[in-house]
Amino acid sequence: MTVRNWARNIAFTADEVLRPTSVAELSELVASRALVRALGTGHSFNRIADSTGVLVSTRDLALPIEIDGDTVSVGGGTRYGELAVALHAAGRALANLGSLPHISVAGACATGTHGSGSGNRCLAAAALAVEFVRADGALVRLTRDDPDFGGAVLALGALGIVTRLTLATVPTFEIRQDVWVDAPLPRVLDRLDDVLDSAYSVSLFTSWRRRDVLDQIWTKSRTDGVPFDGAEVGARPAEVAMHPIAGQDGATATPQSGSAGPWHERLPHFRLEFTPSNGEEQQSEYLLPRSAGAAAVAALAEVDFAGALQVCEIRTVAADELWLSPCSGRDTLALHFTWFDDDVRVANAVDALERTLAPFDPRPHWGKVFRAAPTWHRPALPRFRELVDRYDPDRTFGNAFLAEHVY
Ligand SMILES: Cc1cc2nc3c(=O)[nH]c(=O)nc-3n(C[C@H](O)[C@H](O)[C@H](O)COP(=O)(O)OP(=O)(O)OC[C@H]3O[C@@H](n4cnc5c(N)ncnc54)[C@H](O)[C@@H]3O)c2cc1C
Repeated sequence: MTVRNWARNIAFTADEVLRPTSVAELSELVASRALVRALGTGHSFNRIADSTGVLVSTRDLALPIEIDGDTVSVGGGTRYGELAVALHAAGRALANLGSLPHISVAGACATGTHGSGSGNRCLAAAALAVEFVRADGALVRLTRDDPDFGGAVLALGALGIVTRLTLATVPTFEIRQDVWVDAPLPRVLDRLDDVLDSAYSVSLFTSWRRRDVLDQIWTKSRTDGVPFDGAEVGARPAEVAMHPIAGQDGATATPQSGSAGPWHERLPHFRLEFTPSNGEEQQSEYLLPRSAGAAAVAALAEVDFAGALQVCEIRTVAADELWLSPCSGRDTLALHFTWFDDDVRVANAVDALERTLAPFDPRPHWGKVFRAAPTWHRPALPRFRELVDRYDPDRTFGNAFLAEHVY
């Protein structure tokens, strides 16, 4: 049977997904196979999760969520939405979430998944410890004080199958979400940093169909702060619940109109019980230095998206120190694109986009569609390969994606 990713644009070469129910069973399975690769919830858009051997899900390992003071230990196959509910009930929170709660913790961390917020780092940066089954079946545990740790969480699935992660938590908090519409683009560009810094998490959405208007500004503000006033950049408050993509049902998005609620019901854009985004789509994202700012955004207005674009999202992410993180060493301006699911149009749009963004030192998101091979991570590769040589000398966890971009 063909196994596909969530978006169904990728048919995996492996034709089965094995679901061990204990770590011992997982260890045995890994040690006895020549080629194995972890699959999370399959929300990546390229061949990063593919294997010519077998795919393994850690979803059924049945590892409990253990909250201990200001940390939580969680099975890698757990979805963020489930983890968030347990944390909130215990009075705790994660500092940030991605745009959807449907993704697995290990899969999101492996690719550098991030949310938005000038002070918020990517989700993998919350990791304090990681446990994984390496190629010989042994269980390895690494903590932040281990010299390998910077390469072991955002590891593209290359070191082993992650069974557990320990994450830093903060006291639970409330967020109010507001959506502003139809901001004149020049006014936003004049004050881009102010707008992006105006709340705990800010996302700008636009389809670029009106090249001088920015369609939507979503602000997620801590309730102890001052909410952003979109009128300062000529926007008006949305009158109905908005979806990032025009024509999609705003009821599937998290509550807006200034309504405050728990962090995990406002930081993602999409609710766990509904299909996130559109569903029939592909995605790309490029992570630029924050200093690229208004010049990079203005350049987008000139791109020929070949009719492929559903919506573009502009976010910020704080710098981290993870070796393969696209935000490593620099505060980041993240430019995201939701495409129609059409390979030819997407290829043309991505080529045009990559040409336009090239002067701004873009780093592609590891889990989304890109065409020009990334080179920015090459300085980190020797030490990452040294980890791979130790934990997976025979490339049991290898695939064509890793052969091209890592090995
Ligand atoms: C609708 C939608 C919205 C999105 N929004 C965002 C967003 O806001 N921000 C963002 O940055 N990205 C976003 N993404 C991208 C998504 O977060 C990443 O692709 C992420 O990797 C998906 O996690 P997953 O569990 O589905 O991983 P998968 O796609 O299943 O796997 C990704 C990689 O992780 C590895 N992996 C998975 N589980 C394990 C494990 N247990 N041990 C070792 N390696 C493992 C796989 O081998 C593979 O290499 C979005 C995707 C979709 C579909």
